[in-house]
Amino acid sequence: MSPVSDLLDQYKTTFPEITDIAQAKEVFWKNPKLLPYEQAKHLSEFTEVSEQGAANRLARFAPYIMSAFPETKASGGIIESELVEVPNALAKLEAYYGKALVGRLMVKLDCNLPIAGSVKARGGIYEVLKYAETLAIENGLVSKGDDYSVFDSDGFRAFFSDYSIVVGSTGNLGLSIGIMGASLGLKATVHMSADARQWKKDLLRSKGVTVIEYESDYSHAVEQGRLESSQDPKSHFVDDESSKDLFLGYSVAARRLQQQLIAQGIAVDAEHPLYIYLPCGVGGGPGGISFGMKLVFGDHVHCYFVEPTHAPAVLLGMGTGQHENISAQDIGLDGLTAADGLAVSRASGMVCREMEPLLDGVFTLDDQELFKLLALVFDAEGIKVEPSAAAGLAGIARVLQADGALESKATHIVWATGGSMVPDEEWQGYYQNGVEAR
Ligand SMILES: *Cc1c(COP(=O)(O)O)cnc(C)c1O
Repeated sequence: MSPVSDLLDQYKTTFPEITDIAQAKEVFWKNPKLLPYEQAKHLSEFTEVSEQGAANRLARFAPYIMSAFPETKASGGIIESELVEVPNALAKLEAYYGKALVGRLMVKLDCNLPIAGSVKARGGIYEVLKYAETLAIENGLVSKGDDYSVFDSDGFRAFFSDYSIVVGSTGNLGLSIGIMGASLGLKATVHMSADARQWKKDLLRSKGVTVIEYESDYSHAVEQGRLESSQDPKSHFVDDESSKDLFLGYSVAARRLQQQLIAQGIAVDAEHPLYIYLPCGVGGGPGGISFGMKLVFGDHVHCYFVEPTHAPAVLLGMGTGQHENISAQDIGLDGLTAADGLAVSRASGMVCREMEPLLDGVFTLDDQELFKLLALVFDAEGIKVEPSAAAGLAGIARVLQADGALESKATHIVWATGGSMVPDEEWQGYYQNGVEAR
């Protein structure tokens, strides 16, 4: 037998979905290791204290953010997005899937997050700020009680110009790290995989960021970035595959979402469960957000990751229990997808471990579906997302298909993870693609 069929054979009883996954078919996988939250919470290496620490750090930096990025004035320097109900999209999804969909459908508009236009404005920016704060405190430039708007000054930028920040990215993480790093005065280098869009590279270069391009995939870009950074003590590498800071930066979203739900009078309890659909690449973004959600809502929230059929990294890692030790290529997939934010073949091991007792499941989507859903949510609600960010829209129908019924008092939240920075021309191409695929 070939190595691939050996591998498929090995998992055919514990993870039967692997056969369809290897043929790039859409699957829905329920996590058999999910535990009641009271038990699950003791298994995490993260705590409520660490999540609060991240929230407090972002609050300390709010005066700086407000000063350096005036578009955040209205929110007091807090980088946050709206949560909106989308009844027209729900109606269009019913027609599209030919199934009655009950419950409340909402979209979390991270596609409009200020500064970086994607979910990476949470974790990525947080990690840069933490590095900058650590350097500034160690060198006696600030203490935690100070007004951090001093970070937006020529003196601070001159100090930071001795230091570098380095990241490997399929695009959006590079944007958030590069933009924030350059704004603080750090030397920023982004190692970009072949999936990265040209406009993202152009934008970063226009901000003085060094962009290094590779013909190969994301894992290789990360490896090169890590290697380069490790040779320089004045350099910090943002490790998308295992960074605790990224994870915690993302986790802060949950408590803020809770406030948005309260403000809109939407209950979350045993009778009113919450379902969250999170597009997933290496896992840090959706993992950090899910960790925060469980912390806030416990067993009343159900988190699902969505991956492309050709790059099901976390699904493979969790389904086989191999975590970061198995890749899409190991089962014969090519890892190629139009969803550049999700074009990851090998998962973060840290995220797989964290999610084992917390995540409800993972489902996969064909690239064509992403484009159709991208067009659907624009036609229904005027919301512009990038292909990666449309993935969650399939969630409500996929849960119905898997469970046989939907709870009528449930709230379903589609995490729209990116889009506002996509050039209009490029976005029109996506939209046409979706219209033609109907
Ligand atoms: C990065 C990204 C994701 C997934 O985040 P991971 O941390 O890679 O799992 C989803 N959507 C978009 C638009 C992204 O840029």
